[in-house]
Amino acid sequence: MKVAFLGLGIMGRSMATGLVKAGYEVTVWNRSPTKPVEGAHAASTPEDAARGAEVVWLCVSDTAAVEQVMFGLRGAFNSLTEGTVVADSSTISPAATVKFAERVRERGADWVDAPVTGSKVAAENATLIFILGGSTESIEKIQPLLGVMGKQSFHMGETGKGQATKLVMNLQIAMIYEGFAEAITLGAKLGVSLDSLVPLIQASMVRSGVIEYKAPFVSKRDFTPNFPLRLMHKDLRLILEAAKEARVKLPALRTVEEIYDLASEEGHGDLDYAATLMLLEKWAGVEVKGASAS
Ligand code: NAP
Repeated sequence: MKVAFLGLGIMGRSMATGLVKAGYEVTVWNRSPTKPVEGAHAASTPEDAARGAEVVWLCVSDTAAVEQVMFGLRGAFNSLTEGTVVADSSTISPAATVKFAERVRERGADWVDAPVTGSKVAAENATLIFILGGSTESIEKIQPLLGVMGKQSFHMGETGKGQATKLVMNLQIAMIYEGFAEAITLGAKLGVSLDSLVPLIQASMVRSGVIEYKAPFVSKRDFTPNFPLRLMHKDLRLILEAAKEARVKLPALRTVEEIYDLASEEGHGDLDYAATLMLLEKWAGVEVKGASAS
């Protein structure tokens, strides 16, 4: 099967590499020059990458990037034909997803929203979880690719429901992490050691996968991006926009968004979202770290 993979960032590069290793004929494209994906063809435009592909997979930053890559000058849309499936693993607006899907269907192609949960490590280990929206028929077509890049898929309903569910998931990730960050900041101020606290958290009903993933990085004060703060910030905006349209109030998330606004102003946007901790530390006049921090 011929696959075009558009977007070779933290997530896309590992996903495309996995498809090549599984034996698919993959053509990759990235907006800016980047190191090659071994075994893949490289195209100079999305249009070229998508030519002749049965599946066009996207993993770019945001709604505007998806629109650009698909429908912009030399966009992939120009190469879509009857039966092509576009699968979008970017986290973007559910409402825009529905519009993009309508446009590609006019070409006889189809759209599956396929955002992922699991971060850099899950992309590298092919243990992503796909959250799908779209027709069962198109999902069946891409099923073997989902199996290569991920460990599980959940079909949440029609087009847009994958993205809507992803927003519901990230609302929780952002809030769980901020809860953890506030707790460990207070803990540090009260003299509670991070190295003793984390095993207690994970043995208790407070435990979570978010803490399991993030605690080792925080402990080492390693804020290199697994999931960049600027992208979680983008997701918070998407969540609040969707909530406003649905007339749902999210007061706690609004406060979290303010923390992201300030962390971005502090220049932490390209760090991992775990770096929101640094703002709390600054306010408290304390630094949280484990024994493994250098
Ligand atoms: P990333 O490392 O920042 O990569 C972003 C990619 O999008 C790059 O290839 C970038 O190209 C491309 N891009 C940005 N704007 C573009 C535009 N206007 N036109 C064309 N290409 C554009 O991000 P990532 O972590 O891989 O995340 C990709 C998507 O997956 C995002 O929607 C994110 O929310 C979602 N996601 C990420 C994670 C995670 O843990 N990292 C987890 C789940 C979901 P350049 O190289 O030219 O900048």
